[in-house]
Order: sequence, then C-alpha cells, then structure tokens
Amino acid sequence: MVLPVPPDHLVIFGRPGSGKSSLAERLGAEFGYDLIRTGEMLRAAIRRHDFLGQRVESHLAKGDLVPDPLIFELLELNLKSPGTDRLLFDGFPRTMGQVPLLEQFEERLNFRIECYLEIAVSHEEAVARMTGRRVCPKCGTTYHLIARPPRVPETCDLDGTRLERRPDDTKEVVEFRQKIYDDYAVPILRHYQEKCPEFYRKVDGNQPLEAVYVEARRALGMDG
Ligand code: ADP
Repeated sequence: MVLPVPPDHLVIFGRPGSGKSSLAERLGAEFGYDLIRTGEMLRAAIRRHDFLGQRVESHLAKGDLVPDPLIFELLELNLKSPGTDRLLFDGFPRTMGQVPLLEQFEERLNFRIECYLEIAVSHEEAVARMTGRRVCPKCGTTYHLIARPPRVPETCDLDGTRLERRPDDTKEVVEFRQKIYDDYAVPILRHYQEKCPEFYRKVDGNQPLEAVYVEARRALGMDG
C-alpha cells in the first residue's frame, strides 16, 4: 500500500517546541484540514471552567499528561464524523494507551489515517524555541517572538487581546514536558514505523520553520 497523496487524514508528531502546531495551522489553512488539537481543546475547556476543564487544569499546569480516559471523553465531545472533511491530528495519540483509542474513532467515524508525520527536532533546539512562545488567551492562536511575531507587539492579530506566556512554558515545566515526550511519544513513533512504514514520514525540524514547511509539503506529496 502506498501513501495516498496528499493524505486525507493525518497525524503530526513532534516534541513541544518542534513547530508542529504552526505547521499544522499552515497545512490546515492551505489544504483544508480540520485541526484536531487535544491541547487546544483542553485549554478551551479550562477557559470555560466546564466539568472537564476543572479536572484537567492541574495536569496542564504541571506539564503532565492528562489521563487517557479524560482524553477519550474530550474527543467523544469534540470529534465528529469527518464526512468529506480532512482531519489533521495534532497532539493525539500521545501515549500507547491512546493508540487503540484512535483506531476506535477511525472505525466508528469511518475515516482512516493515511500518514503519520514526525517533525524531528533536538531537545536543545526545542527548549530554545519554547521560551519565545506566546499565546492569545481568548482565541488560542500561537505566536513566536522571532519565528511568528504578531503584527503589533504582544497583541493578537485576530482579536487584539494581549498575548500571554503559557503557564506550562516555564523552564522547569519545559524540561519536564521534553522528558514526557521522550518517555511516551518515542514508543508510539516506533510502533507506527514498524506497523505501517509506508505511511510514515519524517522531516528534519531543526531547520528554519519555512524550510520545515517546504520539506513537509514534499513529504506529504503536496507539490506534485
Ligand atoms: P505541546 O505540543 O506544546 O506540548 P499541546 O498544546 O499539544 O502542547 O499540549 C499541552 C498540554 O495538554 C500537554 O502538556 C498535556 O498536559 C495536555 N495534552 C494535550 N494532548 C494530550 C493528550 N493527547 N494526552 C494527554 N495529555 C494531553
């Protein structure tokens, strides 16, 4: 089986600070993917102070993973059958326990992941990038002081809200999140590489973001 190009449904992996979310946003805008971002869904639940938000808040503040059953609950609430839409998963699956959850959703909602894309970045580069990250507390758009600055300093382009640093972007939490990635994501990548090497793509994320984007498009067959 060869990779359908461009893939209709895909998952992007990358350590915190890999630029995976900016890449997902760009691919989403240009190729019409619906972004399924568990991190953003969780932050939205926290902003709303709903029942799920109250139970996940302390996990996010510590940089710790949210337990799998709560992620299942979150996706049950948010994930709809794609119909003719393309889905791009950013931040899920994040543990080996979530791998069968994704399979369950694929079966129930009748779609199939056609590509697993890894943005490979070194630990050091990722940590350096994360210190410049800013986020809009109202709409969740992510900026970067150097790589993706807002038009007006410290202000959201979309709604004019003053940008903030995410509470989980402090030095200790950043290091902890890198360790979580090494412990949990690496086995998932190995799993997909072995299970379906034909659907697996790896891009060098240590390059400037524009070069990563170009390489990712090529890897996904979007240029032909
Ligand atoms: P990053 O990729 O920069 O770590 P995300 O926005 O993807 O940021 O995730 C932020 C936080 O949300 C994570 O540190 C974790 O606490 C929680 N989270 C997001 N997705 C998942 C998931 N699939 N399983 C468990 N926790 C998650």
